[in-house]
This record gives sequence, structure tokens and C-alpha cells, in this order.
Amino acid sequence: MSRFLCRSGEAISPYTPGEQPRERKFIKLNTNECPYPPSPRVAEAILAGFDAASPVPPEIASLRLYSDPEEKVLINAIAGFYGVEEEQVIAGNGSDEILAFAFRAFCDADAPLQFADLTYGFYPALCSLFGIPYVTVPLEEDFTLDIEKYKNCGRNVIIANPNAPTGIALPLSAIEEIAVSNPEHVVMVDEAYVDFGGESAVHLLDRCENLLVIQTFSKSRSLAGCRIGFAIGNRDLIADMQRIRCSFNPYNVNRLSILAGAAAMKDREYMEQCTARIRRTREKTSEGLKNLGFTVLDSRANFLFAKCPVMSGKEYFLKLREAGILVRRWDMERICDYVRISIGSEEDMEIFLKTTKELVAQKEGAENE
Ligand code: PMP
Repeated sequence: MSRFLCRSGEAISPYTPGEQPRERKFIKLNTNECPYPPSPRVAEAILAGFDAASPVPPEIASLRLYSDPEEKVLINAIAGFYGVEEEQVIAGNGSDEILAFAFRAFCDADAPLQFADLTYGFYPALCSLFGIPYVTVPLEEDFTLDIEKYKNCGRNVIIANPNAPTGIALPLSAIEEIAVSNPEHVVMVDEAYVDFGGESAVHLLDRCENLLVIQTFSKSRSLAGCRIGFAIGNRDLIADMQRIRCSFNPYNVNRLSILAGAAAMKDREYMEQCTARIRRTREKTSEGLKNLGFTVLDSRANFLFAKCPVMSGKEYFLKLREAGILVRRWDMERICDYVRISIGSEEDMEIFLKTTKELVAQKEGAENE
């Protein structure tokens, strides 16, 4: 900390992102990226008009210009995919930025926020950044969310659905009940993982004007490195968020990401193929872990949250790391013996299961000596 950091800056507690290793080659199952490349249409869009005669692809040459502050082609593609009006959509530099716009627009000292004790760690980080008071509501013993604790709660609400890091999903009827019972507050649904088996609350927007749905291109559309997220809601909520965006960074989505995002959104078939493949691998991996005695939560996301029967979470995590496999773990009391395993390619998950089997056998052997 420098001596210049202001007092409110000192009070901020930043989020710690998952490791992105640079040197050693790991099987990387720690940040829920998609193991498959983006739709081929993404490269086509970025390289459009490129031929041997032109030294620089036109879209690359255009990088000298600012991006479209209205992000028209991207917004149009998102609105088209979901069958909503363009005025109901806002795009951001990752859904983290969208979350920031929403928190800044709808929450402050007089409008606190409520979320689960075990959910995406960026929510409390944003609250600390913006000075937003928040209440965390413990998940039940089995990590499910009791909607009664959210109905008529008198606060803004954010729910990750499916939740992270558990992967457990709520049905749309639960989201609707929560939104309907809190008509004076905004109910935000973070659907980062919805395409892997959840149901999108976009379909409730006609009935719930206080509902805001937030999604990302980082998972099901394989564009984590492009940093694109978006929100869909009624036009007044979106207009409120545009005030924040235009006060913070009006060119918040860069030229290449606008193109890439629009192309990926238009390729529904490719996204559906990738997510179906990941769902199949998830079920196979879950079964493999259960056969080894693991506790595995029922995940609708592109990761599993699982507990090893013979090692502490820390020991299992470290042994996997030694074997070249990165997963994610949190040093929090309720979940310190769980690890979160992103679903990689079929081959990655076979290696992961084989390694896990060996580690469990080694540990059991050592205990029986
Ligand atoms: N919401 C949840 C629940 C997440 O797990 C993540 C990814 N870490 C995000 C939002 C943010 O994703 P991104 O900023 O890449 O869109």
C-alpha cells in the first residue's frame, strides 16, 4: 500500500481470481473455461476481407478507431437470440463489469443487497468497492437455497443460478416467487452457467419488471478471453445501467469483442453442441467420482463440487496440483473439504479420474500399512 491510498481505498477487499499459470503446463480445471474453441464464425468475423493481397485484415486495421459506443451489432445479436428488444440489453467487458453496473445503479447505503453465504466471491468484493451494505444468508446444510429466506426480504437480491461453486440450480418458479414477492426491489439473476442445464429467467421478464438477468460469453460460448457479458431486463432498468456505463467507460466493449460476441451469439447450434458435450462429460465424471466414494453435488453447470472420502480438501487439491491438474478450492469453514472441478475435454477428464483413482488408492494403501 502506498501512503497515497485514500481511506476508502484501504477498506476495499479485492476478489482473488483463479490461477492462470504461465510456465508449467497444467490440465486446467480451475476457472470454468470451456475446453473447446469458440465458434468458427468468430475467426471468420475477425478475419473477414483478409486475403494475401492485404497485409492487415480490415477488422484489425480498424482497431485504430474506437469501438461503437452503442455496441449495435452485439446488442442486436443478443436481442435476436432471446427475442427481446435492443433497449432491453446492455453489454459489458465481462459479466463482472455488468455486475458492477447493476450494483452501482441499484444498490447503496439505503438499498442494501442480499445473497447466499456460499456464492460468487465477486459480489462481496463489489459491495466493498461501492460501499454497499449486504446480508449473506446461509445456504441449507445440503447447499440448497431456501427461497422463503428471500421472499419479501426487503432488500435487493442477487442469486447465481445455477449457483457457483455448488452448481445447484433453482427452478424458474422459485425465481418468479422471489421476484414477485419483492416488487420494490431488484432481483438480479446471474446466469453465467445457465446454458449447461439451468433455465433462463429471461422468460419471466414480461411478468417481472424488477428482474434483471445477467449472462456471460465466457463459459458456454468459449470467449472468456474476449471479456463479454450482458444483462437483459425491462428498458428502464437497462437505461439506469446505461447511465453508469456511460459515466464509467462508454467504449467498454472493444471492437474485436463486439464482432466475436455477435458471431458467437448467431451460432446457436455450435453453442448447443459444446454444452451438450460438456454435460455428458460432467455426468460421466460425476459418476466416476461417486464410484470412488466422493460426495458430488448435483450440478447444472460446467463444473462439479466434490468432496474426497479419504483426503482433506487441501491434501487432495495439492496432490492433484503436483500431478499437473489444477482445480479450485476455498479456505472457508463450510466448504474447505470440497474442490470445484471445471469440466474439461473428455481426455482431460479421463486423466483427472485416473489420477484421482491413483491418489485415493495410494492414500488408502498408506492408511492400511
Ligand atoms: N458470475 C459467476 C457466477 C461466475 O462464476 C463468473 C466467472 N468467474 C462470472 C459471473 C464472471 O464472468 P465473466 O466476467 O467472465 O463474464
